[in-house]
Amino acid sequence: MITAAAHYRDRFGHKMYKAAISLEVTCPNRDGTKGTGGCAFCSAEGSGEFASSCRLPVTEQIDDAIRRLSQKVPADTGYIAYFQSFTSTYCDADYLREKLEEAAAHPKVEALSVATRPDCLPDDILNVLAQVSERIPLYLELGLQTCDDEVAASFGRGYETRVYDEAVKALKELDINVITHIIFGLPGEDKDMMLRSVKHAVKAGTDGLKFTCLYINKGTRYEQLYNAGKIAVLEQLEYFDIVSDALALVPENVVIHRLTGDGAKKVLIAPLWTANKRQVVNYINRRFKDLL
Ligand code: SF4
Repeated sequence: MITAAAHYRDRFGHKMYKAAISLEVTCPNRDGTKGTGGCAFCSAEGSGEFASSCRLPVTEQIDDAIRRLSQKVPADTGYIAYFQSFTSTYCDADYLREKLEEAAAHPKVEALSVATRPDCLPDDILNVLAQVSERIPLYLELGLQTCDDEVAASFGRGYETRVYDEAVKALKELDINVITHIIFGLPGEDKDMMLRSVKHAVKAGTDGLKFTCLYINKGTRYEQLYNAGKIAVLEQLEYFDIVSDALALVPENVVIHRLTGDGAKKVLIAPLWTANKRQVVNYINRRFKDLL
């Protein structure tokens, strides 16, 4: 495995931070195409709690994000414009092209990262991604979460794992860098199943992985199940034991972009250990010091 920090240093020559952006898009799991109400864990902002309003121009959103980050990051930091909320490719191809090109033209942006679902990559969108990636490094982030179709159906993912496999193949044919998101702690999964998802993504050809624990957020279907005592969350030690076993499965050329997620405190119900970011970072630095 390679850490994201090492990967960015090799590719860009310095540290890279993400400037989160929202587009005026929704998601097929919310607009009735595949479902309503979203995946059982997804908050109302569709994972975009750190982005500015989608109604602001992309350039303004990037400026806002950089202003917020600039207090904490070194002066020579580079930025990745991160299209994070909902399903960033669930839109008209011309709209996406315009927004990606606007971000790519920002003087401080050195790369783009686009978060989406594998079933929202029709040919015209793939063409846009391929063309933009010739101009600026582009990462495409796919929310797989699990390779188990039954578990995926239970939280309402809305596509089968074979769709993910086909999407990774299509993206690799276009030479686009793929990052796969996996959640550890989904109801109905034991550790072996979670590790199977890691193996599956690696075998499918992902270039990078992002791990996160299951968060229970306000206003989600999992909140109701959690409050009713029907589902549980992972404790910190349990979670990082799984992460440790997962890392052992990751080949040398695959980049680990994240060992745990960055849940938004304003919607977080559980697990509460994730809210103490300093403590979690210290724990990771101690436990994984030989790897990071
Ligand atoms: S696909 Fe993504 S944005 Fe849509 S409901 Fe699921 S987690 Fe939320």
